[in-house]
Formats: sequence, structure tokens, C-alpha cells
Amino acid sequence: MKSEELFNEAKNYLPGGVDSPVRAYKPYPFFAEYGKGSKLFDVDGKEYIDYCLAYGPLVLGHANNEIISAVGNQLEMGSAYGVPTEKEIELAKLVIKKVPCAEMVRFVNSGTEATMSAIRLARAATGKRKIIKFEGSYHGAHDYVLVKSGSGAVGLPDSPGVPEDTTKNTVLIPFNDEESLVNLIKNDDDIAAIIVEPIMGNIGCIAPKEGYLKFLRQITEEKDIILIFDEVITGFRIAEGGAQEYFDIVPDIVTLGKIVGGGFPMGAIAGKKVLMEMIAPSGSVYQAGTFNGNPVSVTAGLAMLKQLNDKFYTEMDKKGEILRAQIQDILDDNNLNFRLAGLSSMFQIYFTENEVYDYKDAKSADIELFNKYFQRLLKEGVFIPPSQFECCFISLMHNEDDIQKTLEIIDNFMKTIK
Ligand SMILES: *Cc1c(COP(=O)(O)O)cnc(C)c1O
Repeated sequence: MKSEELFNEAKNYLPGGVDSPVRAYKPYPFFAEYGKGSKLFDVDGKEYIDYCLAYGPLVLGHANNEIISAVGNQLEMGSAYGVPTEKEIELAKLVIKKVPCAEMVRFVNSGTEATMSAIRLARAATGKRKIIKFEGSYHGAHDYVLVKSGSGAVGLPDSPGVPEDTTKNTVLIPFNDEESLVNLIKNDDDIAAIIVEPIMGNIGCIAPKEGYLKFLRQITEEKDIILIFDEVITGFRIAEGGAQEYFDIVPDIVTLGKIVGGGFPMGAIAGKKVLMEMIAPSGSVYQAGTFNGNPVSVTAGLAMLKQLNDKFYTEMDKKGEILRAQIQDILDDNNLNFRLAGLSSMFQIYFTENEVYDYKDAKSADIELFNKYFQRLLKEGVFIPPSQFECCFISLMHNEDDIQKTLEIIDNFMKTIK
């Protein structure tokens, strides 16, 4: 197999053979040759129905024609300028029109940069130090948020190389649990921000309980805490305005990524004007980047966002509903009580019988069984993210055929479990 050979070679030159850890799975990952629509093709000529979709960006599938042609035209005119362009205004206006909390935007290069800068902004705006994040949420790979629970909810570094001094101001609490937040906030006046994935998409897929986001909004308003929605996954995926539109809760700041760059590297911070104007050069909160607002990414983002209208979201919701309803039927028919999670174009099967509301529930899943499921799907030509704790995605290009074929393969696997 060429993928196996390439992986063995890659391991000599790239740590672990890959450029991001989740990509390495056993025995070796397939290497991509090209993607088109709902399909990804590997270097050995095998075809996969793709539910990983680059971990979220590709809502229109691979190699969307309009994005290709817009980016092609832009490339002829240069790929980076280091001076502003009119297209940045156009994209900012589009983001502001779509996303309820967005009154101004700063374009950066990744979701990681977006959350890092959003946290800096929140600390500057409030003059407070601590941030609260939820167990199992992911906000990128920078030091403030690479934190695991310690005793008494004190943040301990989740990676060597992260100083305890950096994470001691990051406090962890369980998602969907009002009481632990109330108790935490009661005696602490040093909390600058709560950063939350409104639907947790990096521990599988966990939706907020009814009223939970509203509770977060109310308590943060009362306590002068900035509410940051990390919508790097949900932004432009579950509704034009993301989770804040879907659940009708408006945060102070939103971080965007994945989809906003139309399949190219980009992230964004957006929010209320009074906050955003604190960012340099209009304010003193430092944020900068050589490739910020890169014309190629901005062009791709524009070409993507222009295609995401009401009809698109109706279609995506419908595909998701059909797929989830039929997976549920398969589980029922096989007398399996695993938890099916997801909404709109997001889904995941948790291999546990517990209801999944937070990190601890998700962690009760049978990882070995998930890995068998993943391997079986892969063998049959269905690519889902290789981890129980990622979320599966649907694109507009996934058709009836793709979905029926996927369901058959899932059914065949579930029949083997007793
Ligand atoms: C992917 C992701 C990030 C990090 O974005 P990168 O572009 O990978 O740096 C941050 N937050 C959430 C919710 C994500 O899913």
C-alpha cells in the first residue's frame, strides 16, 4: 500500500508522520490524492465517503467550483500584499450581516489565534485575570486553554512545556451543570471571561441542555464577565448566524474559523464594537499577523459564505435528520442502547449507554468498540474522524446514495455487536 509506505517515510521527517496529532491512527492513515464533492480519494485509488470533511470547514464538500474559480482569479493577482484590500471589507460586512453579535471583525489565520486573541481582549476589557472553560471543550492548541482538571477545579497544564503560571488562571467546570458555575462564581471577582463551544464538538457532539446557554448569558451579564462563544465549528454550519442564531443567545465575542476561510486557513474574532475597537491599532490590545486577512483566504471565504443561504441550511438540516433518524432505527433494530448525538449537519454515535451531557459522560464510551467501528467503516469506504471524541459532519454534496450506502455499512457493523 502506498499510504503505508508514505507514512513510514513521513515518520522520518514529520513528528509522528503527520502535521496534527488526530491524523495519525493505527495502523497507518491513508494519504489523500484528491477530493471532490462528498468523496475523498487516497493515493492507492480508494474512494471514501467523507464525514470528516477536514474536521469541519468543507460544508460545500471538496473542490467547490465557485471557490476554485474565485481563488484562481485571485491567485493571478497575487497571494499576499501586506496592505489592506477591499475584499476584507466585503467579507467583514458579510460576517456582520450573518452573525448576530458581530459588529466588527478581525481576521486572523486560525481558530487557535482567534481564541487566544479573544481571551486577551476579554482580560483587557475587564481588567480581570481568570477565564472559565468547560471540561472537554477545545479552543485550539495555545497555552491558556491547554488545561486539564486538577483538584478543586484548578487548571493544570495538559502538555509538557505549558507553565503552571499560564494555566493557573484557567478554571475548568463541567458543561451543562448550572450549580458548579454558580458555586465557582459566587466568591470570585477575578473572572474575565467564559469561553464555551455552544455545542461541544471536540468531545464528540454535546448539545447544551434547554436553557443552559441562556443561563450562561444571564450570569455573565450579572457578574460583568465576557461571554465568548467559540463557534469555530458551529459558525456558518448550523445556521447562517451559527449557534447564537440557532439558540437565540447573543454572546459578547465570537471566535470563528474552519468555514469562514472557505477551506483555506483563516480565523476571525468578532463582537461588539466597544470591545473590538480595543484591538490595535484602534486600541491597545495587541493582535497582528503577516497573513491576517490574506487575500486568497478572504476570497475563498467570500465565495463560500455567499453560497450559504436559507435553502442551504434547510437542505443540511434535512440530510442530518434523515441520517440520524435512520442510525437510530439501526441501533433500535439491533437492540443497542448507544447514544446518538448531534443536530443539523453534525452527528456522532457514543458507544455508551449513559446519556451524554458532559466530558465525564462522553468518557464512559467504549473506545475499543469505537475503534472497531471506525476501522470497519474505513475498510468499507466511509471516512469518519478516527476518534470517539470528534464530531462527524455532512456537506451539501452528500446525496441520498452516499447516505444509504453509509447506513448499510453502519448496520452491518452494528449486527456484529452482541
Ligand atoms: C478547530 C477548533 C479550534 C482551533 O482552530 P484551528 O484553526 O485548528 O486552530 C478552536 N475551537 C474550536 C471549537 C475548534 O473546533
